Amino acid sequence: MRLNISGIQGRKGASFEVQRDLSGDFLKALPEVEKVLGPISVEMKVTNTGEAFLVAGSFSVDVELRCSRCLEPVRTRLEAACEEEFLKTPEYGVEEDLLEEQYVVEGDELDASGLIQESLLVSVPMKVVCSPDCPGLCPKCGAALAEGTCSCSTADIDIRLAPLSKLLELSPPAETPERRKDNGSTKEKTFQG
Ligand SMILES: [Zn+2]
Ligand SMILES: [Zn+2]
Repeated sequence: MRLNISGIQGRKGASFEVQRDLSGDFLKALPEVEKVLGPISVEMKVTNTGEAFLVAGSFSVDVELRCSRCLEPVRTRLEAACEEEFLKTPEYGVEEDLLEEQYVVEGDELDASGLIQESLLVSVPMKVVCSPDCPGLCPKCGAALAEGTCSCSTADIDIRLAPLSKLLELSPPAETPERRKDNGSTKEKTFQG
């Protein structure tokens, strides 16, 4: 996205704002991104600070990622912001090389594409989940557990519950007070006899 800055050239403190929609196709190169669902909405303000041009912007784009647990599509909005200076003349490092990651004005234009791409790329989450309690996939058969139980998951539940149900059979909570009563009556009888 090239911006013409001729209107604020030589006018320290002058600024202008732009609003544009850009193609988000570059995001498709990321393995995390399944689909780009719309254009990147760009809002930018460019200010002549005297020594440089300050570019402050915010960007957002709707994309489809994949749940890291169940691999189902997840729609989300990537949002990013930036504040970067574009220098009027390039600065050189100790060995007279152009410093890396340096933005430079080219005549009456500056190219904000790299800045927008960089800001959005770092906004892509490493891991997304379709919901915080997504159960993911069955580790045995790979079935999505959110869609119901697979045969191996029911077997797991049975095994886990088996010892618990045995315990409940052996000592039902209602039995304890009755036993005390019985013991008492037995004692009474023994005393009387
Ligand atoms: Zn999920
Ligand atoms: Zn399974």
